[in-house]
Formats: sequence, structure tokens, C-alpha cells
Amino acid sequence: MIRRIGVLGGGPAGLYLALLVRRRRPDIAVRVVERSPADATWGFGVVLADGGLRQLAEADHESFQAIQPHLHPIPRQVFTVHGENVPIDKARSGGAIERLRLLQLLQAACRSSGVDLQFETPVDDLAAFDDCDVVIGADGSNSLLRERFAGAFGTQTRFLTNRFAWFGVNRAFDSSHLNFKTLPGGGALCGHYYAYAPERSTFVMECDDPSWTLLGLEVMTDAQRRRTTQAFFAAELGGHELVENNSIWRRFPVVTNRRWHHDRYVLVGDALRTAHFSIGSGTRMALEDAIALAGALAAEPTREAAFARYVATREGPMAKLTSAAQGSFDWYERFSEKMKRLEPAAFALSFLRRTGRISDERMLRDFPDFLAYAARKGVAGLSAGAGIPPIVERQNA
Ligand SMILES: Cc1cc2nc3c(=O)[nH]c(=O)nc-3n(C[C@H](O)[C@H](O)[C@H](O)COP(=O)(O)OP(=O)(O)OC[C@H]3O[C@@H](n4cnc5c(N)ncnc54)[C@H](O)[C@@H]3O)c2cc1C
Repeated sequence: MIRRIGVLGGGPAGLYLALLVRRRRPDIAVRVVERSPADATWGFGVVLADGGLRQLAEADHESFQAIQPHLHPIPRQVFTVHGENVPIDKARSGGAIERLRLLQLLQAACRSSGVDLQFETPVDDLAAFDDCDVVIGADGSNSLLRERFAGAFGTQTRFLTNRFAWFGVNRAFDSSHLNFKTLPGGGALCGHYYAYAPERSTFVMECDDPSWTLLGLEVMTDAQRRRTTQAFFAAELGGHELVENNSIWRRFPVVTNRRWHHDRYVLVGDALRTAHFSIGSGTRMALEDAIALAGALAAEPTREAAFARYVATREGPMAKLTSAAQGSFDWYERFSEKMKRLEPAAFALSFLRRTGRISDERMLRDFPDFLAYAARKGVAGLSAGAGIPPIVERQNA
């Protein structure tokens, strides 16, 4: 019998899980312990795609209605390489929301559902949850709970070679941009920027390993890196500075776990597995984990049965997204090399094909302007038979 649940971490996964458990089972006491204050977090805005939003609407209509007015529409994407705009024209679905706003809306819903929220309480000893029948590790990619039982969970962590930092800008871009630039003296940067609120945008700056050295970023402080990389996007930023919020340059950790639970402990969100930000689904996956685990905890009489149901529900959908994420981060690793080798149309095509999920049918349906552009540039956008489309090498590479 589950009477008391402890949640380590008040990010999207922890808060939503706590809320949903209380909504479904008000007889279960739920406590969320978070190290940060209620009004602070890292990062800026995140994208929530339509598929994820539909699940939120189904799981808890009240909190979805609170979130919906704060979703900033995602305009069409502008894909730029070597200064050439390539029409990757599929309209983006869903919306973007400030991460802090999302957390605060979930906090408010938790409070009104009777969740015990404890902020500014860093946990360094799991004895803090000794009174709980179930303890949920919702403490992010660097999870302390996961580390304590890494052997039992079968945790594997590896770091990608690219470096990235998450910034903000105090202006709203009117498109969602993915902009790949080769820089004087060698090296390349990718800027991914889009608005998440009126007068606010996210700006993720990324460079691959060779560029990290070529641009001299490896010997700079984070403040120097911000100024240096910002200067390369001065025209796009239109005089605005990149704003920092724990904007540390780092390598992305790819975390997996062979087992998702151990004894009374269970993992959700980034603690369970990370999804590379280039597919924009980490928050969505965290929230969907919460939906599945809360449903299982509410429905099953024992934690063992609940954990088994959680794994059975989530394994399939999660495998699809993690495989897409892998295709995506593999593509981003050493993207500067591809920029040298491929003409813009071929570069964009290899980008579109990176997750292995864009079939010919989807290309025809979603990217007609790109296919016309690729044909004009002599690049075949569709498969020849069952083969991979030819990627045309640059003449002067
Ligand atoms: C650059 C970048 C861009 C991204 N863009 C998107 C996007 O567009 N769309 C999207 O869906 N996802 C995006 N993501 C991914 C998304 O941010 C994460 O997947 C998501 O935050 C995971 O939620 P979580 O609740 O599992 O973990 P987190 O959000 O990391 O929350 C974990 C919480 O646990 C707390 N905590 C950790 N340890 C302790 C401790 N010992 N004691 C107490 N509290 C603790 C932390 O303070 C934190 O509040 C992006 C990520 C990055 C890096």
C-alpha cells in the first residue's frame, strides 16, 4: 500500500508527477524537495510540440488551461548555412514557454492540490525520504538519487564532444532560426534561436570539437566565450546582448539506465534519460514520464506493480524518441566538417534526414518548397529506390 511519496527535484517531471498523483489519489501524501528557490531556475524558454501538449490536455485539463495562454507561437523555421537561407518550410506546431513560468504554473497547481513543496532544500542524503513508501528521482541529468544506486540502475553516461551554452535575448525573433556559420580563420558555430515570450528569446549557441579549439574558446572564460560568440551573431542580434542564466559552456551528457527502478526508488525525466536539445523533447519526455508513473501509482495496489506498469507504458514511446535524439546528436557532432563538404542544399537535406524519421512521404507532404529548392540545386531530396539520397560534395571542399 502506497501512503507517502517523496519526490527529489522540483523541475517539470517532479512537479507534474506530484500534481497528477494528488489529482488521482488525494489519499496519498506527496512531498517535493527542491534545492532552488521557487522563483529561480536555469535556462530560458522551451518548446512544447503539439503531440506533447495534447497529452497534457488529456492528463490534467486544469493545469493545461493554465499553461496554454503562456504558449508563444512557434513561427516557421529559417535554416541558414554559410549565409544562404534554405527553405525548410514546415510550419512548427505547439508553442514555446518560459521554463520558469512553466514551473511556477505547476507549483501553483501543486499547492492547490495539497502537495507539500519544500524549496531551498538541497538533498545530499536520501535518509530525508525515510518516511516514504516510494521515492522518485526527478533530480535531472546529474541525479544524486541515480548516482547512489548507479549499479542497480545500470546507469551509463557519456559526454558528447560538442560544446553548447544556453542564453537568452531580450527581443523576440519573428522566426525560429537555425543558423550555421563558418567563421574567419576556420571553425563554425550554430545558433538556434526563437522567441518564447514577447520581447524574450532563447539562444542556444553550439560549436563542435574542432571549432572549440580553432576559435580559441577552450582557453577562454565563459564571459569571454559569450562575448566572442555573440560578436559572430552581431547582425542577427541587432545590438542586443546575450543574457546569461547559469549559461555554462558544457558537453551534453547522454544518460541511459538499463533498469528504471530499484527497491522503492524510481527515475523520471532527465534523471532517467536525457534527450538532446536539438530534438526539443526533453521537457515533453519528462512530463510524459510523469503522466505514466502517476497513472501507474494511482492504479496499482503495490509499488512493484506500479513500477512494472510504468516501464511497460513508457518503454516503447521513449525508445522512439531516444533513437531520434541519437540520430540528431550524431549529426551535430562535427557539423563544421559537413559544412565544408556539402553544398547548402545537401547540408540541409542531411539535416532533415538525421533522425531517420522523415520518410519520402513526409518529405513530399511537409517539405515541398525544400524539395523544389533541392531539385533546382541538383540535389535529390527523395530516395532512389530504397537507397539513401545522394549527397552532393562541394566542388571546392
Ligand atoms: C540548451 C537546452 C535547451 C533545451 N530546450 C528544450 C526544448 O526546447 N524543449 C524541451 O522539451 N526540452 C528542452 N530541453 C530539455 C529540458 O530542459 C530537460 O529535458 C527538462 O528540464 C527535464 O526535466 P526534469 O524535471 O527531468 O529535470 P530538471 O529540469 O533538470 O529538474 C531537476 C530539478 O531537480 C533539482 N535538484 C537536482 N538535484 C537536487 C538535489 N540534490 N536536491 C534538491 N533538488 C535537486 C534541480 O534544482 C531541478 O530543479 C533543453 C535542454 C537544454 C540543455
